[in-house]
Amino acid sequence: MTGRFLSLKDKEYKDFASRLNQVNEKLNAFNFIDENEKNGKIISVKDNICVKGMPATASSKILQGYVPGFNATAIERLENAGFSVIGKTNMDEFGFGSFGLNSEHPAKNPFNEEYVTGGSSSGSAVSTALIKEHVSVAESTGGSISAPASFCGIVGLTPTYGVISRYGLIDYASSLDKIGFMGKSADNIREVMEKTVGNDPKDTTSLSATISNKKPNKLYVIDNLMAGVNDGIKDRFEGLLTKLSEKDYKIEHIKIDYLEYSVPAYYILSMSEASTNLAKYQGFKYGFKVKDFSLNYNEFFMSARKQFGKEAKRRVILGTFIRSKSIKQKYYEKALAIRHAIIARMNKILKEGFIIMPSMPIFTPKISEVKDISPVEAYSMDMLTVPPNLCGFPHMSFPYFYEKGMPLGAQIITDHFNDYSLLDFLSEWESNFKYKFKEEIS
Ligand code: GLN
Repeated sequence: MTGRFLSLKDKEYKDFASRLNQVNEKLNAFNFIDENEKNGKIISVKDNICVKGMPATASSKILQGYVPGFNATAIERLENAGFSVIGKTNMDEFGFGSFGLNSEHPAKNPFNEEYVTGGSSSGSAVSTALIKEHVSVAESTGGSISAPASFCGIVGLTPTYGVISRYGLIDYASSLDKIGFMGKSADNIREVMEKTVGNDPKDTTSLSATISNKKPNKLYVIDNLMAGVNDGIKDRFEGLLTKLSEKDYKIEHIKIDYLEYSVPAYYILSMSEASTNLAKYQGFKYGFKVKDFSLNYNEFFMSARKQFGKEAKRRVILGTFIRSKSIKQKYYEKALAIRHAIIARMNKILKEGFIIMPSMPIFTPKISEVKDISPVEAYSMDMLTVPPNLCGFPHMSFPYFYEKGMPLGAQIITDHFNDYSLLDFLSEWESNFKYKFKEEIS
């Protein structure tokens, strides 16, 4: 399947880049826009994925000045297939966030600037909404593709864990991190995905599986998860189920035990992994360098780690605590057990059908409504996006409704390695649904 992408030569590209720069001043979709000529189908890349010769900061001050001299495997494969990267997209620092606000200059929602974009792949969602025929290569650990896709009215596909190499991805939590895609058409996402999947000797967790597209005709709704969803969202989601049941899908309501523990289990595991992954930022090697060698040991590392934002500091401290020997059985090992229990239960269900749910439990909030909520309240917003991520199941958020001009997304989940069934579902959906995009740059 081939998609349609913008392909701009020489002067055309320069004009495009200057229009993009103008819009970017308002919306902060990009941390970096490449002004050099491009020859190829253009894509953008989240700022935690390495593109040779372009800055990679993961929106962190500690990585300021880091310019990798190599491509992530996914990018290398895309460049070899004729794609060109136009820039690096804004995000929550290191992927820590659900609203896009954990960045020094948060991206703004293209539908209405007072609203959040969702996170952590905030800029990838905004650039996808803004640019004609665009795909952005993004990343999800616990929902960073679905959440912003939902709030920005585009499609976000998170593949099965391991089918796309993580080589060149700046780690957040290695057992959960997945490179994925944001786009506006099934054909475009499929083309980019087909070019990136497959085993990579540089990432020992990457797999060379055959990806199928088995279509189930059952859609499961998980009632114990829906209990935490805002009533208005429940109502719009019912409308979606009615539409889908008219299209030969059989809807079944079920309960899956332990799902209510998925958010705490996810945060325990992801913070533990993040705290070790962030240990490499010491002020020597990447980005920010401490130059004063007269400092003592503590002062030296403190002056480097001071560069971390508030949420990154919180996760390093909590993650380090959770991993400590005396308490690891109390939290870490329990969280692992929960993860396995949920995988086993969801696995069974997904052999029989798709699981469907809203992508987020709330309507897109205004920036002012969430900027001061507590971390625990913010984490609880991931209740729907965390379960498939915790289990490595492929899932996709797609827009299905507009509420007072703002988009709403729903998420479908399928079995491991059945990723292409999600894109087939999307192709069907596209023939019934009219997307609205605020502004398209071409
Ligand atoms: N909101 C989640 C978190 O903060 C997910 C982030 C992600 O998927 N990178 O951990």
